[in-house]
Amino acid sequence: MHKREAEFQTYFNSWLRNVHKETGLYELKVAVTDKLLMSRLEEHQKDWLLAVKHGTAVHKMPDAGFTNPADCWCMTEQPAYVVVKYYGKEDFFLIDIDDWCKETTKSLKYERARKIASVISYKICQTCGKHIPMYKQKYCSDKCQRQ
Ligand SMILES: [Zn+2]
Repeated sequence: MHKREAEFQTYFNSWLRNVHKETGLYELKVAVTDKLLMSRLEEHQKDWLLAVKHGTAVHKMPDAGFTNPADCWCMTEQPAYVVVKYYGKEDFFLIDIDDWCKETTKSLKYERARKIASVISYKICQTCGKHIPMYKQKYCSDKCQRQ
């Protein structure tokens, strides 16, 4: 894994844990320009995402000694996304695997990814709990900030 992907993975994990909190399968792709080659998603990754979304997927975790959370997991009909981050852009996109599969382009541009995304990166307003864009501070409005 490249350094910028590792950095985004760390950030994304924290976003999942603290903001999004949704059960699902997430495959991360970081584009170095404003285009992402669709072929970056490998066949076996696509198969796993589709299996989680439409069927039952069981995964035995590789033996890593005591750091393993458990032996295996099982997911049936859960959300499954390709997570796309363009280098140098603040936001990132969760693209449903079905929508990803419908794309006919070979290279996915930033604007197009934004358009087909099911989830665009967001924060949660500290007062009302509404989703707000990443560039906002902790509150959705001045009213929420005053409360
Ligand atoms: Zn609010």
